[in-house]
Amino acid sequence: MSAILLDGKRAAAAIRAEVAAEVERMRAAGAAAPSLAVVLCGDNPASAVYVRNKQRAAEQAGIRFALHTPAATSTTGDLVALVRSLDADDEVDALLVQLPLPPQIDADAAVEALSPGKDADGFHPLNFGRLAEGRATLVQPGTPLGCMELLRRYDVPVAGQRAVVVGRSAIVGRPLALLLTNADATVTICHSKTADLAAVCREADILVAATGRPGWMDASYVKPGACVIDVGTTPWNGTVVGDVDRAAVEPVAGWLSPVPGGVGPMTVAMLLRNTLSLAQQRRRNATPV
Ligand code: NDP
Repeated sequence: MSAILLDGKRAAAAIRAEVAAEVERMRAAGAAAPSLAVVLCGDNPASAVYVRNKQRAAEQAGIRFALHTPAATSTTGDLVALVRSLDADDEVDALLVQLPLPPQIDADAAVEALSPGKDADGFHPLNFGRLAEGRATLVQPGTPLGCMELLRRYDVPVAGQRAVVVGRSAIVGRPLALLLTNADATVTICHSKTADLAAVCREADILVAATGRPGWMDASYVKPGACVIDVGTTPWNGTVVGDVDRAAVEPVAGWLSPVPGGVGPMTVAMLLRNTLSLAQQRRRNATPV
């Protein structure tokens, strides 16, 4: 047996084309194209690459993109003032602050300075809270949403299945556990203090590795036939490697998302979808009834 590969590159290309077609429809109907503003503060080289990828993808989909690069020496007050001014700008439909921020800046304050209706990443506490309550939300964090979309596009059963998510960060593990719960999976969250991690993982029908420790998940963690989603990305000799030892896990798993080419491309595609949703909502709200 060899796992079916969850091809995030292909799925993301399809979603990006869907977003582009929808943007074109909006424009043909006389509405302005969606616009996304990104705040990139500091000189983290990985962040610069991520933002370039977001810009390219947005522009290819017809989304207007504006990059703001405050100095690395900015204060929390500077960042909050910038985010508030972008948030108040009627031309901006969606907005995100690229993380991580320089250490002197309170990242929570920067994220909370934007309004939930412009929250391109779905990180605002109001949107996150609604997700935690199991309520409908217009936007959800891109990486977890990308994982769910991969499961959906490959018809991986979720309802009633046992899911184990290794990693409990606010941007990946926790929101993904909530999305899986809302999709009727029975979910366990694991972390660095989990006892007998391998035994817990082996119970999973859907197993998510999101720690950033390269290659630790070998076949001893995987129930035969399980769906293994590798979220981890660690730079390695000019490419990236995941948390999963692919050579060991591929013969055992039923499905596997590879790194690179799995969850990563989905994250950007989901950002475009969030931007489109926020723009469409704003256009609807602006239409007199
Ligand atoms: P964090 O460092 O914020 O969280 C890592 C999580 O892994 C923590 O909950 C930590 O536990 C847990 N962990 C660490 N070591 C172990 C261990 N030995 N056993 C069990 N759990 C462990 O990382 P992120 O959530 O931000 O990112 C995780 C990975 O996903 C990274 O590689 C990141 O690059 C990648 N990523 C990929 C994206 C994509 O688009 N493909 C987007 C975002 C992230 P504890 O809480 O106890 O410390």
